[in-house]
Amino acid sequence: MSFDYDLFVIGGGSGGVRAARVAAGEAGAKMALAEADRYGGTCVIRGCVPKKLMVFASEFSALPAEAAAYGWDMSMGAFDWSKFSGHLNSELDRLEEIYRSLLKNSGVETFDARARLKDAHTVELSTGQTVTAKHILVATGGRPVRPDIPNAHLGIVSDDIFRLPKLPKSVLIIGGGYIACEFACILNGLGVEVTQYYRGAQILRGFDDEARGLIAESMREAGINLHLGTNIIEMASASADTTASTGGTGSDAAMGASARASGDLVEPAGKPGGPVWVKATNGSERVFDAVLFATGRDPNTDDMGLEEIGVQLGRRGEIAVDAYSQTSVPSIYAIGDVTNRVNLTPVAIREGMVFVETVFKANPTPVDHDLIPSAVFTQPELGTVGLSEEDAREQEPVEIYCTSFRPMRTAFAGQPDRVLMKLVVSKASRKVLGCHIVAPGAGEMIQLAGVAVKMGATKEDFDRTVAVHPTMSEEIVTMRTPMRVA
Ligand code: NDP
Repeated sequence: MSFDYDLFVIGGGSGGVRAARVAAGEAGAKMALAEADRYGGTCVIRGCVPKKLMVFASEFSALPAEAAAYGWDMSMGAFDWSKFSGHLNSELDRLEEIYRSLLKNSGVETFDARARLKDAHTVELSTGQTVTAKHILVATGGRPVRPDIPNAHLGIVSDDIFRLPKLPKSVLIIGGGYIACEFACILNGLGVEVTQYYRGAQILRGFDDEARGLIAESMREAGINLHLGTNIIEMASASADTTASTGGTGSDAAMGASARASGDLVEPAGKPGGPVWVKATNGSERVFDAVLFATGRDPNTDDMGLEEIGVQLGRRGEIAVDAYSQTSVPSIYAIGDVTNRVNLTPVAIREGMVFVETVFKANPTPVDHDLIPSAVFTQPELGTVGLSEEDAREQEPVEIYCTSFRPMRTAFAGQPDRVLMKLVVSKASRKVLGCHIVAPGAGEMIQLAGVAVKMGATKEDFDRTVAVHPTMSEEIVTMRTPMRVA
């Protein structure tokens, strides 16, 4: 049977674009790709890249106080959101163009269209075209979800942050995961009054407890109003004049009552991004200029014809795949967030590369999801690889090497900032099972520590590595006595 293409990729994000380029360029496959929105996907257009640029923007506000201790007479002017977001948007346009030309130069035909599966080898496009392919790769990513409460449409999600016409004066962030904590720090740094509600006992569930504790403490120290064990239970549109009386940051129950009395309560009144009255599980009622839901992401599998043609989906709608990213329909594969395995850009890229290796280079290669280093871009950052102390202790007896100290740079400026360096070591094999760093630049540090941990380095390998002095990360090779044995 002959097909129009060897491979048709649905989704032009990091994973899909990499798979398409490598299949066309290195494996010589006849390729096409469909993207319904912007090329570059979540990472480039509404995730990692603009987020990191916002992290940079937000960090400048701390500089004058620090610089003063170093002898500089520096004063901080106002932050101009429209100038920054204009620059940000042209940068994203530039990056999107690069993605388009990478595909074009690799010989990948592109369709600016939404794709739907008709059968195991046929794709229908929103342009009305129908194409066939020997293999189909679904790389449609995920999308932010709002909780199931009335008026949730009034809240914004992470996609909306980069398109705000102006920064809110006050924001309530719901959630305690990556996105909630990163945006709490970013917006706080940009001068927004930030309140964060997290329903659990400590933010960043799943990460090392000691690291979570230090980040929460640092966030509070920086001025973020973090409430643990707290969730939103009701929300409603608050009229502009209600908030005007307090500059949009009012916090009393009467304000909530007047907003409720304003008649704006009936859904679907109001629009995302306007002032919102919120009632919390702790009984407080407040009005915020904006509410940001950072309450997780769902895979993009709606209305794609997947189940109709026999592709199995999981509980959250994710595509079920085996170790080679193959779905229950043999000609269809899936990579990246749509499979809800490890939802990180470099993982999607890696999954795309091994898919090409497996399908187009006759070298079946399973995806290796073990010991993936990652970073949370809070302030300070968290860099992590391997097991948390809590998970390691469940598995085997461990030694914990840990130090927390005031780093030279900010200590000199009289600031209270602390950093954390931590190794979780197997008592039996001496292997470093986990490395956790909370510090400015921890994302950069953990990339390198990740190589050692992935190679199976022992504590003694770390010990015989000479320290780089004076740095924060030298502590990772100078800790001699375990803090705890468990
Ligand atoms: P996460 O799954 O990390 O966090 C979701 C948060 O929302 C959790 O704190 C969760 O609470 C809470 N939550 C979920 N449902 C509700 C609800 N109904 N009411 C109140 N709270 C709720 O998702 P994110 O959206 O933060 O990030 C999605 C993924 O994107 C991450 O898992 C990560 O893989 C990726 N990402 C990676 C980044 C990086 O590498 N730096 C940056 C940003 C995203 P609970 O803990 O109780 O479940």
